[in-house]
Amino acid sequence: MGSNRKFYIASEEEILEGKITDVYFMRTREVLEKSGESHHRVYAEVHNYGLPAGYDWAILAGVEEVANLLKGKPVNVYSMDEGELFRMFEPVLAIEGRYVDFGVHEAGLLGILRHATSIATKAARVKLAGWGKPVLFFGVRAVHPAIAPMADRYAFIGGCDGISGVLGAELAGVKPTGTMPHALILTMGDQVKAWKAFDEIISRDVPRIALCDTLSDERFESLAAARALGERLYGVRLDTPSSRRGDMRKIVLEVRWALDSAGYKHVKIFVSGGLDEEDVRRLVDIADGFGVGTSIAFPKSIDLAMDIVEVDGESFSKRGKLPGRKQVYRCENLHDTITKFDVRLERCPVCGKPVKPLLKPLILDGKVVREFEKPSEVRERVLETLKKLRAIEEFNPEPQLLVP
Ligand code: ZN
Repeated sequence: MGSNRKFYIASEEEILEGKITDVYFMRTREVLEKSGESHHRVYAEVHNYGLPAGYDWAILAGVEEVANLLKGKPVNVYSMDEGELFRMFEPVLAIEGRYVDFGVHEAGLLGILRHATSIATKAARVKLAGWGKPVLFFGVRAVHPAIAPMADRYAFIGGCDGISGVLGAELAGVKPTGTMPHALILTMGDQVKAWKAFDEIISRDVPRIALCDTLSDERFESLAAARALGERLYGVRLDTPSSRRGDMRKIVLEVRWALDSAGYKHVKIFVSGGLDEEDVRRLVDIADGFGVGTSIAFPKSIDLAMDIVEVDGESFSKRGKLPGRKQVYRCENLHDTITKFDVRLERCPVCGKPVKPLLKPLILDGKVVREFEKPSEVRERVLETLKKLRAIEEFNPEPQLLVP
């Protein structure tokens, strides 16, 4: 009965069967079936009705996994693209079918979308804070290993330039990033010996980034690394623990000054260790790159809920939610308009530019009807969106609600 499993995780089969669900969905299905009410067709939308404080948008992720969860079931599914920006109120995904055919999967599909979206959104925010400098995700140690590849995938899609997990990188189709932990230096007992051994042994295509905070001051270790590896040293990484940190900005400025003064202008400075958006923003002009883990792996939750908005063809919803099936239209200036699903909008009511519908068929009659892009392609689209966000002076966190 599961007590003999080594790890407390669901198998792919258990997820696909809906066994991970809340029991009340099972009971709902049983009541509908036994009371002769199983024929009702509903249209349910997944949306956010309140982003975390300070958040005006989020980045949708997990769409491909949801398609894999729902394919083969007698439903139609519409969704925004993986990596699409969305605002509150906007339906990001919608399911049409008999409630008994998909209701038990609500917990699973929301869990996928919420977790993936929360990680991708945070990664995008950190990428924006560190704009122009590489942001690497070093967060697999913060999550259960069963979902480490998922954390890597969505951090990458959200905009991180590199991910450290070996399996996560393999599944995302990229090379994993990272050089040495403190353990290498401590095990060998000497920084210089460790840096030199790394340089001699590790493949030449891995940039030589020496960890420079293990046993003594960042400035002296960085200079020692530069002297030891010379031209081959690509950069130093400062992973200063918070208990020793003081003002990280001052430490980076001092290390930069010391390296430049000694003729090591080519040596880049990477910072890691408990960084969040604000830390990255404060260091972005003086550091050359960032390693970010826990703040992306354990992001604020982007709460997505699924609500029925139509039953047997009639608009119907619980109070607090907009009834009826809806479409979201967007112009190139990221102005969004929510309309009723059957309204065809051509022009943005704010700026007059052409608009495109964001909800598109994902599954029709159980068949997946969309090609999925590679994670690197999704990431490129996210970066394009982030570029636009940087150019917009005032982003309106609320979409226009338009009922013609
Ligand atoms: Zn517009």
